[in-house]
Amino acid sequence: MRYDTIIIGGGPAGLSAAIYGARGGLKTAMFESLIVGGQINVTSEVENYPGFEEALAGIDLTDRMRKQAERFGAEVHYAEVTAVGLEGLCKIVETGEGSFQAKSIILCTGAHPRLLNVTGEERLTGRGVSYCATCDGALYRDKVVAVVGGGDSAIEEAMFLTRFASKVYIIHRREELRAQQIIQQRAFENPKMEFIWNTVIQEIKGETRLEALELYNRKTQQISFLKADGLFIYVGILPNSALLESRLDLDPGGFILTDEYMHTNIPGIFAAGDIRSKVLRQVVTACSDGAIAAWSAEKWIIENYPALAPWEPQ
Ligand code: NAP
Repeated sequence: MRYDTIIIGGGPAGLSAAIYGARGGLKTAMFESLIVGGQINVTSEVENYPGFEEALAGIDLTDRMRKQAERFGAEVHYAEVTAVGLEGLCKIVETGEGSFQAKSIILCTGAHPRLLNVTGEERLTGRGVSYCATCDGALYRDKVVAVVGGGDSAIEEAMFLTRFASKVYIIHRREELRAQQIIQQRAFENPKMEFIWNTVIQEIKGETRLEALELYNRKTQQISFLKADGLFIYVGILPNSALLESRLDLDPGGFILTDEYMHTNIPGIFAAGDIRSKVLRQVVTACSDGAIAAWSAEKWIIENYPALAPWEPQ
């Protein structure tokens, strides 16, 4: 099967590219290995996406985007992309469903949570250690939980956890949060939240499930123990880079470098959303990237395929 553009990844960036690509008349397919929506699906509430006065669940927002993309004729395929051929005019996408060709590819593979990499983390994941407050928060009704990290995710998800838990500790390695001011302010005002500053987790302790955290204060150099029923880890994100070819230019963190048109360094290959090197990772910026990438893909196709007969659907 041949397409004008194949979008890899079905988060907000991919969905937005699918909406703009299909609506712009490109024969568009989007591949997603699991469920459409990406990381935002595990976000309890999205309250800063323009047009939605009331907060809505991430999964509801992306479900609307999928329906919108399909209404314009984008094909949504639930299949894992196993390899890509990015060079030349005919791009190749290998999937569990077979091999596909495209004139352009938009990479929207997103990012995933960074591990804390301390003793006990792997063993106790699912037994008190979690990376998803939306998924597991309700298990901690009237319990004590800790959240590690000082960014938007840590503070927003900690706030969400205060709906269930009796106490929520934020453990942060500095004495200043990275999160946006408005989010910080709400957290400081919440009586269930307590901040443990200048502190890192040295070990996650527990026999069959999480019992306590061994903490190290970087300022006083004191070791202490904190009893907790749950630990939620929000220490940043890493690129989903399994498919990224060595020829793609990346930043030191492994995110794809693009220009403002979402061009990568390989002609006909575009990148959008969290996989891209950028300053602000939000649903609204992912959507913006996706729209620009689809627009740029269309321009690229017009400029590079003028003499060729349009591909017929097979
Ligand atoms: P982030 O902004 O990169 O923050 C990661 C936090 O984890 C930082 O506070 C960092 O500390 C800490 N950290 C990193 N490695 C650590 C380690 N090994 N041990 C202890 N702490 C560690 O990541 P994020 O909060 O997941 O956010 C990712 C992106 O999504 C950001 O661009 C964010 O703005 C966006 N986002 C936005 C919203 C919203 O606007 N509603 C919600 C969620 C996420 P330092 O501060 O000391 O570096």
